[in-house]
Amino acid sequence: MYQWNKIKVIGNYDTVVVGGGTAGAAAGIRAAKEGNKVLIVEKSLALGGAAVNALVNPMMESFVEHGEIFHEIERRLKEKGVTTRDGIMEYVHSTAEAKALVLEEMFLEYGGGILYDAVLTDCQVKDQKIEKIFVTTEEGVYAIEAEQFVDATGDAVLSRMAGVAYTAGDENGNNQMTSLRFEMGGIDVEKYRAYCLSLNDEFSPLVKGYFFESAMVRNKNFKLEPVFRKGVELGYLKEEDLVYYQCFSIPDQPGCMTFNCPHISSMKKNTDVWARSRAVTDGHQMIFRLVSFLKACMPGFEHAYLIREASALGVRESYRIVGKYVLSEDDYIKRARFEDAVAKGDWYIDVHSATKGLVHMEKYQRGEYYEIPYRCLINEQVDNLLTIGRCISTTFLAQASIRIQPTVIDMGDAAGKACADAHTKQTALSKFEGKNLI
Ligand SMILES: Cc1cc2nc3c(=O)[nH]c(=O)nc-3n(C[C@H](O)[C@H](O)[C@H](O)COP(=O)(O)OP(=O)(O)OC[C@H]3O[C@@H](n4cnc5c(N)ncnc54)[C@H](O)[C@@H]3O)c2cc1C
Repeated sequence: MYQWNKIKVIGNYDTVVVGGGTAGAAAGIRAAKEGNKVLIVEKSLALGGAAVNALVNPMMESFVEHGEIFHEIERRLKEKGVTTRDGIMEYVHSTAEAKALVLEEMFLEYGGGILYDAVLTDCQVKDQKIEKIFVTTEEGVYAIEAEQFVDATGDAVLSRMAGVAYTAGDENGNNQMTSLRFEMGGIDVEKYRAYCLSLNDEFSPLVKGYFFESAMVRNKNFKLEPVFRKGVELGYLKEEDLVYYQCFSIPDQPGCMTFNCPHISSMKKNTDVWARSRAVTDGHQMIFRLVSFLKACMPGFEHAYLIREASALGVRESYRIVGKYVLSEDDYIKRARFEDAVAKGDWYIDVHSATKGLVHMEKYQRGEYYEIPYRCLINEQVDNLLTIGRCISTTFLAQASIRIQPTVIDMGDAAGKACADAHTKQTALSKFEGKNLI
């Protein structure tokens, strides 16, 4: 039994970032680059979060002006020989390991500290300020103090613990669908591509070069659906396996593809820990069925094999804080601009719904964008906290646009700058005006 007030303090920082995912890593890197003493606390063994542990690849296309950290990540990937955004594809693509390595190198080079394998367990709040957080490690529970905290856990874990207002899901409390992703090797990608093209599969438009992308969504007239139906007839697949199927080649790994599926459509509430655990066991079965089906029925997969399954669930949406501003679909439609902008978004409203299928709002023309204000990162309850990443203050629909990796990197980048500027001015993050961050 722990007595929280007697727990040993193992560090004191200007900024502690909890969660070293896409947003958290960017925030930590930028704050450290600007001179803050920064620690990232991460429960897994890599920076990159969903992009690494949930195998989410590639970063979606975003044609806005990006911040310096996004460009530095891309440049460093290229310096490592990673084929990314090379004219054949517009995606910033890499293996999970390359992305994690680049983020880690950047953060350490700028003087940041990382505590891996440490789970945020509780926090101590006094006078609207988080004084310390408690983390569970293999050695036991420790406390860490900081002037500022950044919640980049994806699930708003620190914000909720500290008493920040929050919500989750759509108007009925249903969340976006979660996936358990996987990767396969030994695929004859050219044969698979030729087969898809022979069906006039218009969802496979990337016909140049080595890169190939393919998909099938049930009851939407995808040309691949009859093959999947045959898989059900033959007993390889169940009806639920047909909800959503998508895969991309992995540059620099010939014969390998990454799968943005299966959708765990049985799970409606991503905020229920038992449902999350059940989603993992369901996902394992679904991946086994999909792999068996592809090997037996899909041209090009005759000698294919499973390389790995994700070590984290791919949660698209769960909790969102209710901050000083709630970004909405109206802001998306208006292409809203704000004086305290932290990032520009141009991805469409991309909802994978278990109850309503895919909900996509009108896409922007290239060059159009909306802005996300700093006020979506701060709240009324805690003064020294920023919340970043997919759990910022938005409506359910707006979250479906801001959640892509390029946007959360830019958001993290600006949040890191805000931490450094607020530290220099000795201003609380909640009082900081949030101007000139991009
Ligand atoms: C299935 C799926 C497919 C997607 N497809 C694409 C795509 O193709 N392209 C694209 O650009 N975007 C895609 N996205 C969206 C995008 O990947 C995510 O929205 C984005 O990566 C979220 O970043 P984040 O930093 O907010 O959270 P995360 O990357 O999830 O980071 C959160 C971090 O916090 C850590 N953490 C959580 N709780 C604790 C705790 N208690 N203690 C310590 N650490 C903790 C986690 O381990 C993790 O590292 C997809 C998302 C999903 C789920």
